[in-house]
Parts: sequence; C-alpha cells; structure tokens
Amino acid sequence: MAAPPARARADYDYLIKLLLIGDSGVGKSCLLLRFSDGSFTTSFITTIGIDFKIRTIELDGKRIKLQIWDTAGQERFRTITTGLFLALKHASDNVNKILVGNKADMDESKRAVPTSKGQALADEYGIKFFETSAKTNLNVEEVFFSIARDIKQRLADIDS
Ligand code: GDP
Repeated sequence: MAAPPARARADYDYLIKLLLIGDSGVGKSCLLLRFSDGSFTTSFITTIGIDFKIRTIELDGKRIKLQIWDTAGQERFRTITTGLFLALKHASDNVNKILVGNKADMDESKRAVPTSKGQALADEYGIKFFETSAKTNLNVEEVFFSIARDIKQRLADIDS
C-alpha cells in the first residue's frame, strides 16, 4: 500500500507582498535588483506593466518570504500606478507604507527631492522615511527589513 504523500511544508513562516510605486526613473527597478540580486546597472530597466522578485529573509528566527512587485512608471501605465497610489493613500490600517527617497549618493543640489521635503511628506502621512542609494547600497537592506519587520509585527499581533 502506498504511503500517503507527505504534506508539503511551506518554505517560509510569513509571505509578505510589497509593491514599489513611484515615477519612472526614480530607481524602483534598481532598488529591487540591488535587494534581490545584489547588483546595480546604470541603464534604465524596462518594466512592462508589472513584475516581481522574491527574496526570503530571516527575522527573529522566522523566515519571511518577500514577494516584491515592481510597477512601471511609464506614461502608458500611469493610470495603474496612480490608481494604486490613491488606493494606498486611503487604505487604512491593513497596509503598511514606507517612503523612500532614492539616489542619496547624488549631490543634494542635483536631486529632485531634498531630504527635508521627503521627511515632511512622511511626517504628514505618519510613515517612516528612508533615503537610499541603489548605486552604493545605502539603506537598501534597511528599507526592506524595516517594512518587513513592521508587517510581521502586525501579523503577529493579529494572530495573538
Ligand atoms: P524605475 O523606472 O523607477 O524603475 O528606475 P530604474 O531603476 O530603471 O533607474 C532609472 C535610472 O536611475 C537608471 O539609469 C539607474 O541607473 C539610475 N539609478 C537608479 N538608482 C540609482 C541610485 O541610487 N543612484 C544613482 N546615481 N542612480 C540611480
């Protein structure tokens, strides 16, 4: 008699889905590539519509599988990203948000958004603010670990 099939074991304790939203060219794909693959490219990465990458991290002894969705900021997809942004803006407690100002390696005078403006917006929404550089790998791990930690905490609170 054949033994019943072993129950498939999940390779993670939590599955967390993250969505990167922002204008075209701000460095979303580069941030994702840096985090998932440890690499950086100086060329534009074309995201057609939407794409995702996976990285499993460990936090407090738990395996957190991050499924990170990269949205395209191109004009023809603008309605999708704007719609998502508006939905998130109004989403209440069940969506964690974090604001990221990328390209921190560039001279402040050349950056589109100064630190003070980013911080002010984050304060307005009551969310965390990080300045990152996909190029130099500044704060990239910190951003993803920070939001993963907050979400894991929220899920753990719901479970308890
Ligand atoms: P996306 O449209 O938001 O996904 O932007 P990309 O990831 O394709 O990046 C757009 C351009 O910005 C590319 O030329 C990247 O090399 C450049 N870029 C991305 N991140 C950084 C960064 O942290 N520093 C600098 N200096 N350039 C960056």
